[in-house]
Amino acid sequence: MTDDRPDTGGDTRERLARVASGVSDAVRAAGRRPDEVTTIVVTKFHPASLVRELYDLGVRDVAENRHQEAQAKSAETADLEGLRWHFVGQLQSKKARQARRYAAAVHSLDRPSVVDALAVDDGRLLDVWVQVALSDEPGRGGAEPDEVEPLVERVLSSPGLRLRGVMAVAPLGRPARPAFARLRTVSERVRTLAPGADAISAGMSDDYADAVAEGATHLRIGAAITGSRPEPR
Ligand SMILES: *Cc1c(COP(=O)(O)O)cnc(C)c1O
Repeated sequence: MTDDRPDTGGDTRERLARVASGVSDAVRAAGRRPDEVTTIVVTKFHPASLVRELYDLGVRDVAENRHQEAQAKSAETADLEGLRWHFVGQLQSKKARQARRYAAAVHSLDRPSVVDALAVDDGRLLDVWVQVALSDEPGRGGAEPDEVEPLVERVLSSPGLRLRGVMAVAPLGRPARPAFARLRTVSERVRTLAPGADAISAGMSDDYADAVAEGATHLRIGAAITGSRPEPR
């Protein structure tokens, strides 16, 4: 099941229900509690109207992976009370400060310049995750495992940031579960430095069950809930 393309049939309500039941099956199979796992819906390339539809269905956590799109969509949905935007894509340090204005969380800290750009002492705490590279494919983002600890130290000594934990994307074309197991090991190391940073952001439409089995606390699910994505613009 986990190696299949996501089933994107039905309407949004049906897809959301199907994923919710898939997540609860995975949680049960892993012997975990349902309240340990939060599903974030990745709405990239879909219009703001889909975000409204999801909100009406009870979704409160949504994610984008491009700054401009996130900025525009969050402005278009600013009236939706309690909606939280998660930024999960690669962030240029020039844009990081702007992301702070709309994002409740940034999952993709992978270098010191981004930490420094996001660290603003403005009286609120931005939730951040350190993104870990689980393969040597260039362009997928993430700090190498030996860069994670220095990055964690930097976050801990910066204003305006609350470290939640680690994030990763499974490598392409290889089994996800061993990669998520490695992420779990990195998470354990991070927790020796920052005991409260116990969140693990991992798992997408195709591999969320593996992520849940390896301790993920935040799933980032797109197509299986939103339906197939329109082409990027
Ligand atoms: C697009 C995206 C997702 C969701 O991917 P799906 O396969 O559509 O579930 C999750 N995380 C990141 C970083 C993404 O860019």
